Amino acid sequence: VQLFVTPLPSRNENERWSLGVFYDMSEIKKTEKIRIDFVANASHEMRTPLTVIKGYSELMKQKIEQGDLNGPEILDLLNPVLQSADQMSDLMNRLLNLSRVEVNAPLAKSLLPTEQITEEVLQDIEGLVSLKHKNIVVKCEAPEVFANPESCKQILSNLLTNAVKYSGDANDISVTWIKAPQSVLLKVKDNGPGIVKEHQSRVFERFYRVDKGRSRDQGGYGLGLAFVKHHMLNHGGNVRLISENNMGSEFICEFPNP
Ligand code: ADP
Repeated sequence: VQLFVTPLPSRNENERWSLGVFYDMSEIKKTEKIRIDFVANASHEMRTPLTVIKGYSELMKQKIEQGDLNGPEILDLLNPVLQSADQMSDLMNRLLNLSRVEVNAPLAKSLLPTEQITEEVLQDIEGLVSLKHKNIVVKCEAPEVFANPESCKQILSNLLTNAVKYSGDANDISVTWIKAPQSVLLKVKDNGPGIVKEHQSRVFERFYRVDKGRSRDQGGYGLGLAFVKHHMLNHGGNVRLISENNMGSEFICEFPNP
């Protein structure tokens, strides 16, 4: 909002000044667009599993009415229904978690040992890492970081999972904790195909995926990096991406010192 006062050319003593008020609507319109896009994207993601649930349920009903349903067939028809229900509840949980992070609630922070935090995350994603034959090298040049433990683990877990999922045939991934003058930096780097410039600022938006087909195959909704961004903002820090096409991706999180 901008206020301005200017003198009037009027000769009347009582009408010497004019008062103007400017409202900048661009931020309000931007927020409104983000809200509309969010509802549209969430509904779109729900539509696929719902279609599966409806289709198979109708088929089952039809077969029951025709008295044409045997034991194994019931299972064949029920499995996709259950899988789609799981998919929907997974999406709902992720959205709920994201909206919790987005409200910018104050975090309980303490000095955490970087080595232990990294070890715990690596244990959680051990299965995926060995399935994809990745080799993760950890360097803890900064022994401690001032952060919220749960939040910090989720940030690292999201970045590492992405590095594993999207680095193609490049197997080496590194996690490095570095001490800077005012902060501690967490760097997660892979040597995969990278992210081209035009997508780089957008990958932190909710539901944004570079390659929708590939990302969907990997079970992604495009929510992970939005999550990381808001977790970092809640720490009073930030996350940035350095990447070139075919030169890998490096995500750098900056945690301010206490
Ligand atoms: P998703 O849940 O789909 O993995 P994210 O928000 O975590 O979504 O990431 C957004 C998109 O950014 C992904 O769909 C993927 O296309 C791209 N991306 C993320 N991390 C990497 C990476 N390390 N290398 C290449 N592309 C990546």
